Amino acid sequence: MQEVTLIIKNASILTIDDSYSIFNPGAIAIQNDIIEAVGNESEILSSYSAKEVLDAAGKILMPGLINAHTHVPMTLLRGLADDLRLDVWLLGYMMPVEREYVTPEFVKLGTMLACGEMIRSGITCFCDMYYFEDDVAEATAAVGMRAICSESILKFPTPDAASYDESLAYSKKFIEKWKNHPLIIPSIAPHAPYTCTPEIIKKSKDIAIHYDIPLHIHLAETQQEVENIVSEQGMPVIPYMDKLDLFDAKVIAAHCVHIDPGEIRLLKKRNAGVAHNPSSNLKLASGISPVKQMMEIGINVGIGTDGPASNNDLDMFEEIRLTTFLAKGSSGDPTALPAKTTVAMATRIGAKALHIEDITGSLTPGKRADLILIDISKIHNSPNFRHLPDSLYSQVVYAAKAHDVSDVMVNGKWLMTDHKLLTLDEENLMKQGQEYAKRIDTFLFQRESSVLSKLVAIGGTMEEESFEVQLKIKIENPGAIIEMITNSNLPILRKRHYHEYDTYFYFDDPDQGKLRYREDHFISEKNEVVNLRQRLTLLGENVKKHIPQEVMLSRSRFFAPATQSLRFYKEYFNPSNTLEVEKDRKRYLVSYKDTEFFINVDSFIVPDLGTYLEIKSRTWSRKDAETKSELALELMKILNLHNKPTITKDYIDLL
Ligand SMILES: [Zn+2]
Repeated sequence: MQEVTLIIKNASILTIDDSYSIFNPGAIAIQNDIIEAVGNESEILSSYSAKEVLDAAGKILMPGLINAHTHVPMTLLRGLADDLRLDVWLLGYMMPVEREYVTPEFVKLGTMLACGEMIRSGITCFCDMYYFEDDVAEATAAVGMRAICSESILKFPTPDAASYDESLAYSKKFIEKWKNHPLIIPSIAPHAPYTCTPEIIKKSKDIAIHYDIPLHIHLAETQQEVENIVSEQGMPVIPYMDKLDLFDAKVIAAHCVHIDPGEIRLLKKRNAGVAHNPSSNLKLASGISPVKQMMEIGINVGIGTDGPASNNDLDMFEEIRLTTFLAKGSSGDPTALPAKTTVAMATRIGAKALHIEDITGSLTPGKRADLILIDISKIHNSPNFRHLPDSLYSQVVYAAKAHDVSDVMVNGKWLMTDHKLLTLDEENLMKQGQEYAKRIDTFLFQRESSVLSKLVAIGGTMEEESFEVQLKIKIENPGAIIEMITNSNLPILRKRHYHEYDTYFYFDDPDQGKLRYREDHFISEKNEVVNLRQRLTLLGENVKKHIPQEVMLSRSRFFAPATQSLRFYKEYFNPSNTLEVEKDRKRYLVSYKDTEFFINVDSFIVPDLGTYLEIKSRTWSRKDAETKSELALELMKILNLHNKPTITKDYIDLL
């Protein structure tokens, strides 16, 4: 009789080992952190004895669930912004709030909250990607869960690094600190192909190979990402990553939603693990990942919750069920991904996808004791049929709920017994979480109340407030005016021709000003579009005092290159009204009495307002504005325009 630390008996055991052995009733013998033996109850009890023997009547005993992709500290951002497109959600809300609030303290608290939620959902191991990953690791190890902790690297500044060089240096230190820890596997996470340069991808891959650790990355999550990579790199996402030798590392690829059969074969050939995140893909309408096809050719596909801000919970039971339902529903084949396969994806195959199958993922002697008990005696899971042994898998996938998990053990230590968390004080953590929510609420209340602060929040370099003296005259014969400009003695410093597409955003409160999204198409001498430029300008109310009546002083408050699409800005700023203006502009930069003026000949196409001549110059002081106004009026006379500056009613409405 061999003495062990713990025996759990009288359980319905799903081992999820290579032959999917089931023991019912079964027992497991655990020696410290290691599974010593698992088998029929009678066999185990005749060979092993222990001081602690647990009777698991009415329960399924199985390996702990593996959450293959998540961002655990984001529990503190859960429900902050929903029902948005990925770019608006990420660039408009998540990243600005993260820049403001994500600190080591935030990350630790968010991780602890996530651990509590995950333990309750039967998760024993998760694969994380965030910032301050050292603090994620600290908190996780303190709670006693197993995790792959991946430090994020992005091409722009992050909450824990001013540059990617800093992130790479942080990663090395972090990896050296945690390598060989019994619970934490450090990893590196170049965030995604569209947020990383090829250099970042290559350097991250080199670090992963050097330290022999997994590399965690988001790949082919949206159609947009694929289209952008194809247009920039001339190939889809997976071949592009392969070209950068990414798959020389042990890759954990989250999502892989938009990949073709060739890319699926390439992932298999390169032994990449994939993390499927059904809730997140559905909620963000990213698409449906070809999981059935990937599984058929033998890719290891694990299941993940993704971050709690895009899900919004960490319930693996929901993900498991969605995985099988999505595969069936999208293929029209009810035999696709049977319950048994899906349970394996959430355990052993998940461990393979994370490259940690030697440690965890199945109840196999020699592996760490990471296991859960699921109570199947509740009304929603009865009665129990046993004529088919696989019906236990069906019970887990189609009927069990996260809250049926009663006991959770990681590395031989109980983290939850009889629904009670043993290493966390949930109430206290939730109270602290609410404090953060209050502070973030205040920040967002303030930001959302001003167009300017919303503009600043999405970054980009801004030019500060400026004024312009503007004089406008409706003209009937643009050709004659252009001739007049060219034949005058005015030195022409520059000449441009463009087609402008403006979209004005109006807001209920006129004090907010209006926002203009402008796309300039530069037209060459040969009348071809040679270049595009997009800009955002926040326009303030025009000032009419202190300068001659005919001249207007316009106020342009902030100005930034528009790096996102018009659709993005519309969804992010949510204006009460928009207006489209299209015009053809011939622009001359002239010098008059040592002062630079732009003379624009603007032919409006939409709306059809005819042609306007515009004389304008930038100004910063009242005195300067007065002088420039006088000069502009003189210029008008030089151009033989003797009629008064006119602004018609429909033009004013446009302003
Ligand atoms: Zn993610």
